Amino acid sequence: MQKTGRKGLSLARRLYSSRILGLTLGLLLVSFAVYPLSPAPWVWWFMLVNGLFWPHLAYQWARRSAVPYHAERRNLLIDAFLGGFWVAAMQFNPLPAAVILAMMAMNNVAIGGLRFLFAGAAVQAAGIVAGASIFPLTSVPMTSSAQLYASLPLLCTYPLALGWICFRQTDTLGRQKRELLALSRTDSLTGLLNHGAWKDRLNEEFQRCLRHPKDGAGRGAIALIDIDHFKVINDTYGHVTGDIVLRQLGKMLKQNLRAADIVGRYGGDEFCVILPDLTMHNAVQAMDGLRERFALLGYEQVPALKVSLSIGLAAFNPAYDDATLWLNDADQALYEAKTTGRNRVVCHRQRQMLEVSAVSL
Ligand code: GH3
Ligand code: MG
Repeated sequence: MQKTGRKGLSLARRLYSSRILGLTLGLLLVSFAVYPLSPAPWVWWFMLVNGLFWPHLAYQWARRSAVPYHAERRNLLIDAFLGGFWVAAMQFNPLPAAVILAMMAMNNVAIGGLRFLFAGAAVQAAGIVAGASIFPLTSVPMTSSAQLYASLPLLCTYPLALGWICFRQTDTLGRQKRELLALSRTDSLTGLLNHGAWKDRLNEEFQRCLRHPKDGAGRGAIALIDIDHFKVINDTYGHVTGDIVLRQLGKMLKQNLRAADIVGRYGGDEFCVILPDLTMHNAVQAMDGLRERFALLGYEQVPALKVSLSIGLAAFNPAYDDATLWLNDADQALYEAKTTGRNRVVCHRQRQMLEVSAVSL
C-alpha cells in the first residue's frame, strides 16, 4: 500500500508541471475561441480558475490523499470532463476542439493505457453534454486565423513536453532494469558473481573451448576453492569474523588474478574461478600462490587467526559432454585436497586423456 502511494506521488509531481503547461496554453486557446461568442462573466472566471488555479489544487489534492495515484486518475477525469465542457462552450470550433481532445487523449493513453483512454473519452462526452446544455449550438463551427495561431503553442509544446517526460521515465526504467540485473547476478557479501551468473559464464567458456579445442584458446582450467575448517572459524570467532574472512578472500581473488579470469562465489565458503587460456602448470602456480598469500594474511580483529584454503583444479577436456562434467572433475579434485590433508592444490587427473596418451605412446 505504501509502495503504491509513493508511486502515485511521483506521478502527481510529473503531472503537476505538465498540467500547468497544458492548462495555461489551453486557457489561451479557449479564450481566443470563446471571445467572439461574448460569453457571460462567470465563463471567464471559470476559465481562469480552470487554467490557473486548478493545476495547483489538483496537485495538493493528490499529494495529501492516502493514495495519490488514485487521486491523480480522478483529477485526470476531471480534466477530461472540463475539456469536453470547453469544447461545447467554444461551440465546437474545429481546430481548438480537436487540439484539446487530442492532447487529453494523448495524456490519458500515456498514463493509463487504452482502458483509461476510453474512460477519459466517456467523461469527455459527459462534459460535452453538460456544456452543450448550457451553451446550445447557435452558429456553424469555424476557426479563424487568430484562433489557429492561438492553437499553435499548445499543439507544438505539449507533445514535446509529454514526449520528454516519457523519455525520462523510459530512461530511468532502463537504468533500474540494468541495476536490478546486475544485482541479481552479484553475490551481496563479496561483490563477486553469484552461483547462477558464474555458471552461465562457465557454460560460455566451455562452448568457447569446444570451438577451439586445438589452439591456445582451447586451454583453460577451473578452480574450486574452499576455506578449511570454516565452521570452526564461525563457531570460535563469530559469523561477523567469518564474513570478514569471506570478503577478504573475495578481495584477494579479484586483486591477484588476471582481468580475464572469472571469479564467483559458488556458495557458503566455496569460491570458483575460470582461468581461460592457461596451461595446467600455470593454473597450479596461480592457485598455489594465492593459497600461500591467503594463509599469510593477518586479521586486524583477530590477530591469532590464520586461514588456509583447499583448491581443486580441472583442465578443460574436449571429451566432456557438458560443463557440468568439467565442474564435477574440479569438485573431485577439491574433495581429494580435503581428504589428503587440506591447505593444498590438487589437479584432477584426466584419466581418459592419460589413457589416450599411453595408447599413442
Ligand atoms: P572443510 O574444511 O571440510 O571445508 O570444513 P568447513 O568447516 O569449512 O565445512 P564447510 O565448508 O561445509 O562449512 C561451510 C560453513 O560456512 C557452514 C556455514 O555455516 C558457513 N557459511 C555459509 N555461508 C556463510 C556466510 O555467508 N557467512 C558466514 N559467516 N558463514 C557462512
Ligand atoms: Mg569449508
